[in-house]
Amino acid sequence: MTNNGCVLDARDREGTLGRLATERFDVLVIGGGITGAGAALDAASRGLRVALVEARDLASGTSSRSSKLIHGGLRYLEQLDFKLVYEALRERDLLVSKLAPHLVKPVPFLFPLYRKVVERPYVGAGLALYDAMEGTRRGVPHHRHLSARGALKRAPALSSDRLAGAMLYYDAQVDDARYTLAVARTAAAHGAVVATRVSAVGVVRGGDGVRVTGARVRDEETGHEVTVTADCVVVCAGVWTDLVHEMAGVHAGYRVRMSKGVHIVVPREAVDADAGMIVRTEKSVLFFIPWGNRWIVGTTDTDWSGDRAEPAPTEEDIDYILGAANRVLARPLTRADVIAVYAGLRPLVAVAAKESKPTTKLSREHVVDVPVPGLASIAGGKFTTYRLMARDVVDAAVADFGSDRSVPASVTEQMPLLGADGLAAVRASAGRLAEDYHVDRDVVEHLLGRYGTLADEVLDLVRADPVLGRPLAPGHLYLGAEVAYAVTHEGALHVDDVLRRRTRLFIEAADSGAAAAAEVGVIMGRLLGWSRRRRAAEIRRYLDLIAAEQTLLADGAAVVAGAVVAGAVAG
Ligand SMILES: Cc1cc2nc3c(=O)[nH]c(=O)nc-3n(C[C@H](O)[C@H](O)[C@H](O)COP(=O)(O)OP(=O)(O)OC[C@H]3O[C@@H](n4cnc5c(N)ncnc54)[C@H](O)[C@@H]3O)c2cc1C
Repeated sequence: MTNNGCVLDARDREGTLGRLATERFDVLVIGGGITGAGAALDAASRGLRVALVEARDLASGTSSRSSKLIHGGLRYLEQLDFKLVYEALRERDLLVSKLAPHLVKPVPFLFPLYRKVVERPYVGAGLALYDAMEGTRRGVPHHRHLSARGALKRAPALSSDRLAGAMLYYDAQVDDARYTLAVARTAAAHGAVVATRVSAVGVVRGGDGVRVTGARVRDEETGHEVTVTADCVVVCAGVWTDLVHEMAGVHAGYRVRMSKGVHIVVPREAVDADAGMIVRTEKSVLFFIPWGNRWIVGTTDTDWSGDRAEPAPTEEDIDYILGAANRVLARPLTRADVIAVYAGLRPLVAVAAKESKPTTKLSREHVVDVPVPGLASIAGGKFTTYRLMARDVVDAAVADFGSDRSVPASVTEQMPLLGADGLAAVRASAGRLAEDYHVDRDVVEHLLGRYGTLADEVLDLVRADPVLGRPLAPGHLYLGAEVAYAVTHEGALHVDDVLRRRTRLFIEAADSGAAAAAEVGVIMGRLLGWSRRRRAAEIRRYLDLIAAEQTLLADGAAVVAGAVVAGAVAG
């Protein structure tokens, strides 16, 4: 992958690996989730030489599997975690209004009330506090009180049984994988070298045998290893943190406890509402999150000790979510409504005293530690507060750089991400862009919502090769050009990088993107020089990956996928 300006070009992987092996870095970041991408951007924009290695794909861990909310977290208010809520709300408004308005969008939520006398003042006071904690930017409107009639007008899907009214409030939502990618690309634009499918497999110590001065890294595509030399290493490995600490032979002051959270995806028409919803459950809360022409509904919160890379949702997880949703819906959701399911792992910080608490009660605040000179690590936190986490871990990592190398304070609060600058003018020109490029207006809107002011780079590909203007899957706006762009600008190396994270067909399409896999394989293969055999293997790998989900959801869907496998691999 070439890191040429703001481009992550998967066609020049050798160039990137060569830079890792030969250049000297100030900071090496391990992990390309939102925390690692944020740390790379924070350090690079302070003028430091930065490398980032990610063992799989950018955002392939927790950072593509969240509830996709940029929020203060109403329920943390109830847990009296005021600091977390305050910081998160300020970050939310900064992202919505300045840093990434193309990616982070306000979304209305209904909070249905069922106990007339006690609940309204209680929730109302919480929301008044929530609103008051916002920064001065006010990225989203104030909350409002609704009567039961008003609530049913916004959400006819709610059962009127016991419904006493609702509160309407605002938070924000994001495509978490795309956001992580935008942060990594912005880091590259500031000079960071970003390498995916490269694992840190050991640390290198300096002459004193103590200070960490780099890491051995392995190219997961070839098995080839090189040494990356850096003045400090920053560990942002999410639920892999304990393993990285072990690999480095260090004892950090905290451990990471994994908590699995599952979401289901259902068609928009299955729940008639024009706002998202948050409802109480016995243990926590359940969100109905509007997602294009789908709803994302979740989540669960259970301890996990299995596979970190592909945590498996179970039938029980799905039934729990359906049960919790159906307590408030007039027309119950059934298994037949579920078109996708995904699971992610919360990297919760468990310091010794808190270890026995249930995971719902563990704080979502982050912890930074420097267990040995030259190595700083961070875990916990939330997607919403990644910028503060990144700042804190970089501060800790460079603290002992010495007075001759003073490092400036973080500047990311001032820095819009790639695609954000000049957005208002480009949005206003959407109609003209549609005419100029001979595409539908909704295609332009779709691209603006994903690439911001860089949308014309994708449209240029369509102009050069109109075949790339075809949609990848019926009923979805993703274009062939977005696959090509994913390779040449966004570092996509494999079919699943495109179907699971550069686009979200994995969770949005009823067939999990199975039918689109062949076309994705063809476009990627042309750019990356794949043989027929390699292309077939890539497609097969993706279809194998989704097979477990398909089986979990419905026998019928698995049969569809099976038919597509045969066609796609033969093609
Ligand atoms: C179900 C669920 C819902 C959530 N919802 C929200 C929400 O709505 N809003 C919110 O703000 N937060 C939410 N969160 C929390 C948020 O998603 C996480 O805090 C955040 O994504 C964690 O990012 P990370 O970068 O720390 O970890 P990850 O995204 O997991 O990144 C760690 C990366 O390190 C890489 N890595 C590991 N070992 C190595 C190695 N040796 N070498 C190189 N790379 C390595 C991994 O491959 C991985 O990509 C949710 C979490 C879950 C699970």
